[in-house]
Parts: sequence; structure tokens; C-alpha cells
Amino acid sequence: MNEFETTNEMKTWAKEHFDNMGIEGVWSPEGTGLTYQKISNDTWRVIRMMNHPTVQENHMKFTTIMMSVGINMVMGDEATYDPPASSEEAYAQEAAHKMEIAKSWSCPKCERILAELELEKAYPSFEGMQEILLEDGNTHEVEVWSYNLLCTCEHVTKIDPDDFHLLAGDYLFMRYVNSEGTLRQCMTRKQMVEMADADNPELGVVLGSKDPDTKERVPSWMWGTYCMSVKRWGLSDEEE
Ligand SMILES: [Zn+2]
Repeated sequence: MNEFETTNEMKTWAKEHFDNMGIEGVWSPEGTGLTYQKISNDTWRVIRMMNHPTVQENHMKFTTIMMSVGINMVMGDEATYDPPASSEEAYAQEAAHKMEIAKSWSCPKCERILAELELEKAYPSFEGMQEILLEDGNTHEVEVWSYNLLCTCEHVTKIDPDDFHLLAGDYLFMRYVNSEGTLRQCMTRKQMVEMADADNPELGVVLGSKDPDTKERVPSWMWGTYCMSVKRWGLSDEEE
């Protein structure tokens, strides 16, 4: 293994990243085969590790970075698992693991488990545009969406769409409500067949990038889907 050196940029990033995470928070860097958990402000432990030389090497690098900002790494009681046999298996393994982690996320204020909140009351809201830097040096504008999860302690946790998907599953992810209170729910294949065979297929709507009634932005993950429209609340409804 080559000598690994930490740069100042790395340290600044690490300090910020590790400080911002709550105690018991879990960090699983994408595609590394590693999962860490924060035990205290200066101690982290490995909770899951793939049996593979590259993974060992990655782990040494993370440990070096952590140590450079004064964090101890505890090892010894991590679960180990074999590398996937195919890319399909790798995908399934990664997805199952991410969902497992999502189940442990909690409200930063009262520590209630987020997965147990009323997820069906959260809808995507458009936050604005963000400029991102591409690898070739050009920039690109992307839409930023988020879900506001209201906890029983009144704290609102902002959560990004991918994370909400992990937490709530396909059904609650594939829906939004426009400003007039119409819910657009993406249909399953079976529902599409039933809708097409029914006498009132006009209830179904194919989504483009703009809502058919209000012309508002449609979350990009719902473009090109066939949805059912349900009135959730009206303009006269004071509640909403
Ligand atoms: Zn709470």
C-alpha cells in the first residue's frame, strides 16, 4: 500500500463532516464496503466491513483521516461479509444495507425514530436551483427538492428525496401535491391496467415536467409517469 497523506482540504472536510453528525449517527460512504458509527465526539467504530483487500485499504485511509482530526477508531466487533458475486447482487446488497441504516435515523431533538413518524403527511417541496461543479470543470444547474418531516416534538427534519425514498419506500416517494391540493399518485402496473379498462380513464394523468393544472414544477423523479389524481384539500379548507 502506498503511503497515504491527508491534505488540509481533507482535514477541513473531515472536521466539518464528523462534527455535524449526531452521536450514534451512521456513515456508509458509497461503494466502499464500509459502515461507521459515531459513538462520541472523538470516537467512531466500524460496524460493517466487506472482506476485500481494497476495502481494508479504504478503511486504513478513513482511519488516517479521522486520526488527523483527533478521532479514535474502534475496531473488533464489526460484522464482516463476503463481496457480492455479481453486480446485481452488489446492487441488492447495497440497497438492503441502505434501507437498514435509514431505519435507524432519528429526530436530532428528541431521538424518535424517523421511520415511525407520519411519513404519509410529507410531500416533496421545491427548494431552489443549485449550481454543481462537474468533473470536466463546467457547472450545471440542478433542482433541489426536500421533504419536511414533522416530528411529534414539533421539530422539522429536512430530508433529501433519496433519503426519503429509503425511509418511506416507492409508494410514498412517487407522489406529490400541487398548490391546489391535488395529489398525484404514481400508479402501479396493475392500477394502470384497471384504470385503462375502467369507464373513467380521464382520472389518470401522464406527467411531464409541469403540473397539468397549476403548471408548477413536477419533481423530476416523477416525469413520464402515469398518475392517479385525488383531491386532498380545497382552497376553502383553512386547515391547510
Ligand atoms: Zn423529535
